[in-house]
Amino acid sequence: MAEPIFRRLCIIGIGLIGSSVARVAKARGDIADVVVATDANAEHLERARELGFADVVEADTGAAVEACDAVMLSVPVGAIGAVMQRIAPHLAPGCIVTDTGSTKGSVIRDILPHLPAGVHLVPGHPMAGTEFSGPDAGFAELFQGRFCILTPPEGTDPATVKKVAEIWRRAGSTVEFMDAATHDKVVAIVSHLPHLIAFTICSTADDLAQETREAVLKYAASGFRDFTRIAASDVDMWRDVFLNNREAVLEMLARFTEDSQAFGRAIRWGQREYIEDRIRRGRKIRRGLIERKQA
Ligand code: NAP
Repeated sequence: MAEPIFRRLCIIGIGLIGSSVARVAKARGDIADVVVATDANAEHLERARELGFADVVEADTGAAVEACDAVMLSVPVGAIGAVMQRIAPHLAPGCIVTDTGSTKGSVIRDILPHLPAGVHLVPGHPMAGTEFSGPDAGFAELFQGRFCILTPPEGTDPATVKKVAEIWRRAGSTVEFMDAATHDKVVAIVSHLPHLIAFTICSTADDLAQETREAVLKYAASGFRDFTRIAASDVDMWRDVFLNNREAVLEMLARFTEDSQAFGRAIRWGQREYIEDRIRRGRKIRRGLIERKQA
């Protein structure tokens, strides 16, 4: 077994993502000697004790990070600033703070003002997930074959970046590097806009008259069903994502709105070629995903 990357890793927020990281660390034994789990939700702490994916379960966030050489924030992105402020006085010099948040510009903006001198920040985003949340939803294989994007601000100590990258590699992911602004644009189109569309289409169906709504549910297998899986995602997480990736989501939404109106216009005016071109492009993207084994 390889040398563990860290002596003591604290994971704050042991929901789907945090508990999955804890599970991989436990299963492999070479991510940290000791994994400490903490969470604001007392029931989740109790579940962590029962499930046994952490060596130490600590209710007090400040006490949890003490003497740790790495801390991973895995709470909704809107909570990251307050959590960072709370733990800052307890962080040991040299400690590496990382996160799993779905937005990166806002995370850096919210963490940096509280980052003590001598403590390092390496922001990260595992591109893996499901529509489920909480400690029972996690599993050790979640990150296998997926990407993890790291967005270290300029001037970050390369040795600390290497260590955080190694967590994700050992969890089975391919690590990519990007600046935070590029990351936020990319995820706005590949993840945040699709979620926005899924939430909207489900609300639209829900607004329909009773009779029509029942028919929608009955015949959902025609395509609607795929949207409902995405739309079943966690409320707090997604509210925070939209509010904290505001500019990029609004930009992608504006482009999407223009394009969908153009599609509508083509239908109205019977522009067969336009419609065929859109469908072909959809099929091409899907084939590309299958070839890259990302489908
Ligand atoms: P989750 O399953 O809801 O877990 C988050 C955990 O953090 C919950 O136990 C939550 O408790 C707890 N929490 C909330 N506020 C807290 C605070 N102030 N202090 C301590 N604990 C707090 O969410 P998740 O899906 O693991 O997401 C965690 C992070 O990873 C988010 O930033 C998200 O954007 C990112 N992420 C998610 C996915 C995905 O597909 N789900 C993928 C990649 C990245 P309560 O439930 O009581 O609020």
